[in-house]
Amino acid sequence: MNNKKGFIIVYTGNGKGKTSAAIGSAVRAAGHNFKVFIMQFIKGNWIYGEEKIFKSISGIEIKRKGLGFVGIFGDEIPKEKHKKIAEEGFREAKDAIFSGNYDLVVLDEINVAIDLGLINLEDVLKLIEEKPENLHIILTGRKAPVEIVKKADIVSEIVDIKHPYEKGIEAVKGIDF
Ligand code: ATP
Ligand code: MG
Repeated sequence: MNNKKGFIIVYTGNGKGKTSAAIGSAVRAAGHNFKVFIMQFIKGNWIYGEEKIFKSISGIEIKRKGLGFVGIFGDEIPKEKHKKIAEEGFREAKDAIFSGNYDLVVLDEINVAIDLGLINLEDVLKLIEEKPENLHIILTGRKAPVEIVKKADIVSEIVDIKHPYEKGIEAVKGIDF
């Protein structure tokens, strides 16, 4: 249990809504003039609504460091390339965390990046341990490692009850991206 003032928050599970929850939290925090930094791992070159809206306002900075799906849906990019860009994203997120310029940092899909071996779990645990006292950090993505869950203050697992994907309906604009 992390007993500092800033929380470690984890949104995990197979159901839809993890990134949406993080985006909602970012908006809520920014409403109180919190400075927010969001780093999105894995995600490739789709244009997400959150990116469009956050680039048009102040208070929430959003960056993306990914090449898209890793090892599925026809991905032929060498794993090393995925790893390199994920590590770049991690370094940038770490700089943001220790810069003192932010109140909330979101590491979107970082659990997936760890699970795929793109980011080192030990490095993330160290970051959580050493983060500035008042900073809140949100980590999203399926398969949150148990070590992170143990250190977190808030952990929500979103359970999949149904999803249109099962009927062959693919990502819907405004809902999924
Ligand atoms: P969102 O970004 O919509 O909040 P998420 O972050 O919970 O979703 P991810 O695991 O990051 O979900 O997956 C991203 C994409 O996969 C989204 O387009 C989402 O709709 C889709 N997805 C999420 N959950 C499921 C599911 N249970 N079955 C099929 N597709 C899913
Ligand atoms: Mg997500």
